[in-house]
Amino acid sequence: MTAASSLGSMTSAPGLGSKDVGGSWALWETLAKKHTDFGRPSVFEGNIDEAKWLSFTVTLRDPTFFNLMEAFTGNEAGTGGLVTFTDSNWLMSIVLAHQPHFINQPKDVHVFWGYGLFPDEKGNHVEKKMSECTGKEILTEVCGQLGFNEHQGLILETSNCIPCMMPFITSQFMPRVMGDRPLVRPVGTSNFAFIGQFCEMPDDVVFTVEYSVRSAQTAAYSVLGIDKEVSPLYKGQYDPRVVFDAFRTMMH
Ligand SMILES: Cc1cc2nc3c(=O)[nH]c(=O)nc-3n(C[C@H](O)[C@H](O)[C@H](O)COP(=O)(O)OP(=O)(O)OC[C@H]3O[C@@H](n4cnc5c(N)ncnc54)[C@H](O)[C@@H]3O)c2cc1C
Repeated sequence: MTAASSLGSMTSAPGLGSKDVGGSWALWETLAKKHTDFGRPSVFEGNIDEAKWLSFTVTLRDPTFFNLMEAFTGNEAGTGGLVTFTDSNWLMSIVLAHQPHFINQPKDVHVFWGYGLFPDEKGNHVEKKMSECTGKEILTEVCGQLGFNEHQGLILETSNCIPCMMPFITSQFMPRVMGDRPLVRPVGTSNFAFIGQFCEMPDDVVFTVEYSVRSAQTAAYSVLGIDKEVSPLYKGQYDPRVVFDAFRTMMH
C-alpha cells in the first residue's frame, strides 16, 4: 500500500511514482506468472488514479496550532478522533495524536498528520490541485479550512509540512473477484505462504494491522504445524449496538 510513495517538502510537491518503483509489485507479478492460484496483481496495481491519496506530516515549533485546535474541538490532542473537513474539496482530515508522539520528541515541538482523499481537486483556499501543492500550500489550506487565518503567518513560519504521495494506498480496495487474491496457503503448497494486505482471508477487513497479523498467524501456524488459534475477529455486524447505529444512520 505504500509502494512507490514519494515525499515533497515545504517548497516542493511530491512526484507520482509508478508500480515499477521499488520491488513490491514485481515480486507478486513474478510469483503470479508461475500459477493461477497466486492471484492477479494487475487488478490492484492497474489504476493509480483510483488508488492514490496524498498525506502530510507537520512538525510545529510553536504551540499555537495545537492550542487553537484544543479550543476549537474541545479535545486535548490524543483524546478525540480524526477531524474531517467535510466541505473540503480535497476531503481532507487531520489527526492530532497524544503528544509527545515520538520518543525523545522535545517538549516544545508538536507533530500531527493529515491526508486528502481527492488530491486532483483544487483547494477551497489554495487555487491548486492538492497533488501539485507544496507543504506550505497544504498547511495554508488547513489553516483556511479551520479559520485560523489570523495565526496563519506564525504557523507557516514555525512549521515544517512534508507532503507524501502514495499511489497505491487504497489499491487493496479495488473491485475484485474470488481468485484475484491468493489464499494464505494456496492449495498444494507446503513451504511458503502469502501474508499481508493482498491475500484472501474470510470476513476480515483490509487496511488494518490486524489483517496482516492474522495472515502471518495463519501462515506460520499452518506452515510450521503449530497448534494455535488465529486471533478471533470482531464481527460488528452481529453486535446490536452497531446494528442499531447503522439503522439510525440509514434513517437520517
Ligand atoms: C498512512 C497509513 C495509515 C494507516 N492507518 C491504519 C490504521 O489507522 N489502522 C490500521 O489498523 N492500519 C492502518 N494502516 C495499515 C497498516 O499500517 C498496514 O496494513 C500494515 O502496517 C501492513 O503490515 P505488513 O506487515 O503487511 O506490511 P509492512 O508494515 O509494509 O511490512 C513489510 C516489511 O517488509 C519489509 N520488506 C519489504 N521488502 C523486503 C525485502 N525484499 N526484504 C526484506 N524486507 C522487506 C519492509 O521494509 C517492511 O518493514 C495504515 C497505513 C498507512 C500507510
